[in-house]
Amino acid sequence: MEKKAIIVIGDGMSDRPLKELGGFTPIEIARKPHMSQLAKEGECGIMDPIAPGIRAGSDTSHLAILGYDPYAYYTGRGAFEAAGIGLDVEKGDICFRCNFATVDENTFIVKDRRAGRIREGTHLLAQAINGMEIEGVKIFFKESVEHRAGLVLRGEGLGHRVIDADPHQEGVKVHTVEAIDPSDIASQKTARIVNEFVKRSFEILRDHPLNKERKSQGLPPANIVLPRGAGTAPHIPSFEERYGLKGACIVEVGLLKGVGRYLKMDVIDVEGATGSLDTDEQAIARASLEALKNNDFVLCNVKAPDVAGHDGEPYKKIEAVEKIDRMLGTILSGIAPHNTIIVLTADHSTPVIVKDHSGDPVPIVIWGEGVRTDEVNSYGERSCARGGLGRIRGLDIMNILTNLLSIQEKFGA
Ligand code: ZN
Ligand code: ZN
Repeated sequence: MEKKAIIVIGDGMSDRPLKELGGFTPIEIARKPHMSQLAKEGECGIMDPIAPGIRAGSDTSHLAILGYDPYAYYTGRGAFEAAGIGLDVEKGDICFRCNFATVDENTFIVKDRRAGRIREGTHLLAQAINGMEIEGVKIFFKESVEHRAGLVLRGEGLGHRVIDADPHQEGVKVHTVEAIDPSDIASQKTARIVNEFVKRSFEILRDHPLNKERKSQGLPPANIVLPRGAGTAPHIPSFEERYGLKGACIVEVGLLKGVGRYLKMDVIDVEGATGSLDTDEQAIARASLEALKNNDFVLCNVKAPDVAGHDGEPYKKIEAVEKIDRMLGTILSGIAPHNTIIVLTADHSTPVIVKDHSGDPVPIVIWGEGVRTDEVNSYGERSCARGGLGRIRGLDIMNILTNLLSIQEKFGA
């Protein structure tokens, strides 16, 4: 029987000792029998997602954990976000994040950068805009959640070094996009196209029936699209090309779905996976077990602890950790233990005291046949630091895994 592997990531699960928790971290204080079983039977360590002290984003950290050096492959979140909302992205495409916004129809002064946080009907607005062609460049546009959307330009001779059309504040005019370096012909072309796109988006949206209805209800019309954050879609070899493994991703947020799609992994949507504290962890566990049947490798990310971290809520973070522990329990009882390697870690720390990602290392345990068990018997930031793995980086994980799966080629003779 072929060996398989699953990486379980508690997003932002790692934390700092908290006074209000008696000097413990949320992981340390949580009830986590399954995590501790893994720690007891496995090999523990701490992991710097990128490098010691570097504050990782979820996207760069997941690239590193999957063995792709973000310093070589990451060109901004635009390409992954576009892929995450279901836009087809190819190497060399110029990708933007966008907002539906409200501008004054005569002055183009931004009145609401989020068009009243519009929720309904943005797919109709996006459909009306999608499919333009300007100067021979194909334009793909799709809505994301609320007022957000993605834009992809595909064509010859395009650059990404342009300023944002989005002025990032209200009460000022929409920016005319320009190349950052005036001598950069490729970025000048992109700037012209984006300006024309913004103008046409206004012409199409101004009189769109949905906006007429919004106006009659006293709501701000979503009458323009404001692109920002231009980036070139990178060439990244697929996961299967890289490792010869069939890989699947079960992740809750669009950005990480985009990373999975970009690596041509099977991105599996799970009903009940909300990306929030109320997520159905048992549904995620069942989907992971199912995915392990048809794949060699599964990456599973649960967002809840990161949400609690950003909100500065230690007790909710403890609950999120306990949720992941229950999920692990279901996974542990459903796998074939002799042919499955489990990795449990976090993609970065999101300390409740920081309310954002920090550069602190995260605990990691590797469990399964062939692993050198160490003395650690509880999962946590400090207990794992005494484990046999020592201190590793995100980029080391796939090397360790492919070694345990016995699929790695020898380096040298
Ligand atoms: Zn994250
Ligand atoms: Zn976060």
